[in-house]
Amino acid sequence: MAEADVTSSNPVRDICDYDLLFDCVHCGLCAEACPTYVVTRSEMDSPRGRIYLMKSIAEGRIDLDADAARHLDLCLGCRGCETACPSGVHYGRLIEGARSFVERHHRRDVVDRFKRRAVGAIFPYPNRLRALLTPLKVADRLGLRPALRAITPRVIRDWLDLLPPLEHDSRPLAGEATIAPRKDAPTVVVHHGCVAQVLANSETLNSERLLGAAGYRVVQLEPTTCCGALDLHSGNASRARDFARANVRALKNSGADAIVSAASGCSVAIAEYGGLLEDEPEFAEQARAISSKVRDLSSLLLDAPASSKREFQCRVTYHDACHLAHGLGVREAPRKLLASIPGVTLIEMTESDLCCGSAGSYNLTEPAMARELARRKADNIVAIGADCVVLANPGCEFQIAAELRRRNSKIKVVHLANFLAMASQ
Ligand code: SF4
Ligand code: SF4
Repeated sequence: MAEADVTSSNPVRDICDYDLLFDCVHCGLCAEACPTYVVTRSEMDSPRGRIYLMKSIAEGRIDLDADAARHLDLCLGCRGCETACPSGVHYGRLIEGARSFVERHHRRDVVDRFKRRAVGAIFPYPNRLRALLTPLKVADRLGLRPALRAITPRVIRDWLDLLPPLEHDSRPLAGEATIAPRKDAPTVVVHHGCVAQVLANSETLNSERLLGAAGYRVVQLEPTTCCGALDLHSGNASRARDFARANVRALKNSGADAIVSAASGCSVAIAEYGGLLEDEPEFAEQARAISSKVRDLSSLLLDAPASSKREFQCRVTYHDACHLAHGLGVREAPRKLLASIPGVTLIEMTESDLCCGSAGSYNLTEPAMARELARRKADNIVAIGADCVVLANPGCEFQIAAELRRRNSKIKVVHLANFLAMASQ
């Protein structure tokens, strides 16, 4: 990392919310909760190291060179450090600011630029993603994925390997019929997201079905736009705000009392619209109101009268998706629901809340660290002897399933909504 020439140093305090940096007292209690520190054992890849780095750049003591950008890029944005921090450091807000700064002031190498631009140009737009995946779907139906993989450049091959087989239709499982909503039942919107509506449609549709069966009044959101999480995590704060405004309008018009997503990263993004749009008088109050309505599927189902579940003999371990555990603080509700299914034995894996490496689009842009974390997660799942790992985020589902496929493992990876739908069939 290059030290700035102090005679020409130019403090760049807009790297992040400078005042928030002083909440950190450098105690280091967050280090062991940080996946990149756990893997590298390097202080500069720990939350404290990154906070120190942001402060040094903000004060003009070092420059944002390739080395500094690398330490910031390697952060997963998982927020494990927020849970561990006794001083309440809002690390998520700091790193989102820093990412935006890096995007504006640092030029990456050509492959990195290609990957990041491809993610930004395709993933938030479901129709573009669907069109791109159509040839792959056909190849999967004809059993040609291995041949396609063999002729694909390495960078695309890594991405292909993360995708589950696409030959099946993403329909909801047959489950309990939707019943008439309870009298005075809260109205719930399940946000369909962008990538999730293409690759994890059954997770969303089963969430709606389970909520309907539990007596909630489920309404559809029109139109459904990307929540902006992908942009926030990749430093494109301006487009994230565009998406946030569109969602605030649509969610307000829906009349929802509660907002749910099958993707926990989307839930947290919506839960933070209040902060994202706080400087926009036209939206700030509405955004805060929308944010306050974000709930998670498992808590809503636990609040409703218990539904009947069939016996389901299975040893299940639960993986905590980062944004659900560290962003929304939801850990117990999914476990309680799973443990309530007759026949299910719930067993705890080691490091259940350590990131699996998926982290939005992180596994597409930082494949080496993402793979290291996927291996670690798969080792912990295999070690506990589970038949099935359940989780509440499609990104984790694809990441962990890809790693288990590489090992020819028979362990199933199932989204919580799909698991509960199967148990209620
Ligand atoms: S967000 Fe996750 S990867 Fe980044 S510093 Fe915090 S714990 Fe580490
Ligand atoms: S982020 Fe929190 S836990 Fe980590 S060093 Fe700073 S004060 Fe300590």
